[in-house]
Amino acid sequence: MSVASELRTPSAPSAIRLLPAPGQPSTGPDLLAYLSASRLKCWQTCRRQFYYRYVERLIVPTAPALFIGRQIHAVLCRWNWAKWKEEPLTRGQLRDFLAQHWEEEATAEPFPIPWKQPGDEIIARDQAWAMLETYFDQCPVPPEEKPEGVEVEVECSLGDGIPPLFGIIDLVRPGGKIVDYKSAARSPGGEMAAHQHATQLAVYGLIYRGTTGTQESGFEVHHLIKTKVPKVIVSTYGPLSAAMESELFFLIDDYLEGIAREAWVPSPGQHCAWCDHLALCRKRSGL
Ligand code: SF4
Repeated sequence: MSVASELRTPSAPSAIRLLPAPGQPSTGPDLLAYLSASRLKCWQTCRRQFYYRYVERLIVPTAPALFIGRQIHAVLCRWNWAKWKEEPLTRGQLRDFLAQHWEEEATAEPFPIPWKQPGDEIIARDQAWAMLETYFDQCPVPPEEKPEGVEVEVECSLGDGIPPLFGIIDLVRPGGKIVDYKSAARSPGGEMAAHQHATQLAVYGLIYRGTTGTQESGFEVHHLIKTKVPKVIVSTYGPLSAAMESELFFLIDDYLEGIAREAWVPSPGQHCAWCDHLALCRKRSGL
C-alpha cells in the first residue's frame, strides 16, 4: 500500500486544530473526506451514534467529564509546547492558563455545561488542577527532555480510493515514542486500556509511519486519574503490530462500505449508558 504523508508542527498553539469538531458547521457532506480515530471509534461503537454525531450533526451539551478532560489536555499541550520552545512555564502560569482557558471554553459552549449542583464547576476546576499538579510531579518524562512533536497534525494517504487519514498526536517523545493523554475517574487495567484504545493507537502508529518513514518505537498512554488523591498511571506498549494494522484496515473497509449503504444500525449495550443520544435513540426506536 502506498503511503504518502505530511507532518507539520504548527507555528502557534491556536493553529493546531485541524479537524472540525463534531457539530461545527460543515461546508458539505464530508464523511468520506477523511478518516480519523474519533470517527472510526464512533463507528466501531455504534453506527446509530455515528449517524447522530456526524450525519445529523446533533449538538448536545458537553458532559462535565469531557469538558474537564479537554481543559486538562489543553494545559498539557501548552506545557509541552513551552518545553518544545525551551521556554518552560511556571506552575503559576499554567494554573492561570487553566483558569483562562476554562472560562473561554465554557463561554463558547453552545449549551451550558450540565453541572449537577451550583458550585460543582469550581470543585471540578480545583480537581483538574490537582490532577495536573500530580502529573507534573510524577511525570515519567524527564523535565529536560525536549519533545519531538507536540499536538502534531498528521495527514496520511492510504492509497487510491481511500480517504486520507488525519490525526493529532498529543506528544511524540524522542526516538518516536507516541504519547496520548487520558483523564479518567478510575484506574485502567493495562491490558484493558490497550484493548479500549487499540483503534486510536493503530491510527497514530500508521500516520506516524506514513509521515516519518520510520516505525514508532512504541506507545505510552498517560492516565490522569481523578481519585480523591489524584494518581498517574502510565501504560506502555510496543510498536503497532501487523495484526493491529490489519484490524484497522478491516475497520476502514467496514466504515467505507457502511457509509455507502447508510447502514446506521444501532448497537444497544452497556456503552448506551454514556451515549449523548440515549433518550432520542430510545424514542426513535420506540422503546
Ligand atoms: S443509545 Fe446506544 S444504541 Fe442508541 S445511539 Fe447511543 S450507543 Fe447507539
